Amino acid sequence: MGIRENLQAVQKEIFLAAEQAGRDPKTIRLIAVSKTKPISMVEEAMECGMVDFGENRPQELKEKAEQFPELCWHQIGQLQKNKVKHIIDKACLIHSVDSLSLCQEIEKRASAIGKVQDILIQINISGEETKSGISPSQTADLCREISLLPHVRVRGLMTISVRGMSEEENYVLFRELKTLAEEIDALEIPNVSMEELSMGMTHDFVPAIRAGATLIRVGTGIFGERK
Ligand SMILES: *Cc1c(COP(=O)(O)O)cnc(C)c1O
Repeated sequence: MGIRENLQAVQKEIFLAAEQAGRDPKTIRLIAVSKTKPISMVEEAMECGMVDFGENRPQELKEKAEQFPELCWHQIGQLQKNKVKHIIDKACLIHSVDSLSLCQEIEKRASAIGKVQDILIQINISGEETKSGISPSQTADLCREISLLPHVRVRGLMTISVRGMSEEENYVLFRELKTLAEEIDALEIPNVSMEELSMGMTHDFVPAIRAGATLIRVGTGIFGERK
């Protein structure tokens, strides 16, 4: 199947999952994860109307964003401080923020170009040691500290689920992220909003939508397997 057919299939599944959950499908934004895929495939997805694209590696985001600056580029993979400068003028949303020191670097670089950078905080909801992200119990404190940085704006939370779990188990973890977002929201921290929940990939975006995802990150389901 080609990209157009894949996209139609994914969009149909999003629509059905949203309907089943009693949600408006328009409140769920599909991010096409184009990491490792050639620019021609980005172009093809763009011709099908896609606007949001996700990349893992800052260098790759930079290169693709230079080709298509009109698209919205999401940094979804781990971001090292020394790479922030490569993407600061290109990323519309950084999903993978997990430390104050990273935020301070983003603050410095965003302030230098007069930008307010939207970010999500990555949460390790499963508690697995191999996963990046902070623990739920650290989230409120980090949000309070970031709220003091004028060029960094927290828009919500992001998580990556555990491979090999059932749909129901994934749903339970995604619900925990949703609950955490509600708890943070109730603290009414200035400059911090919890309107975005980035969760769900090719194999688990259906339970993520049931649990309240507003951003889903789909690579394989659109572009096919990666090498
Ligand atoms: C690669 C990646 C995705 C997309 O994964 P697929 O299984 O190909 O849909 C989503 N989120 C993150 C953080 C990724 O690194």
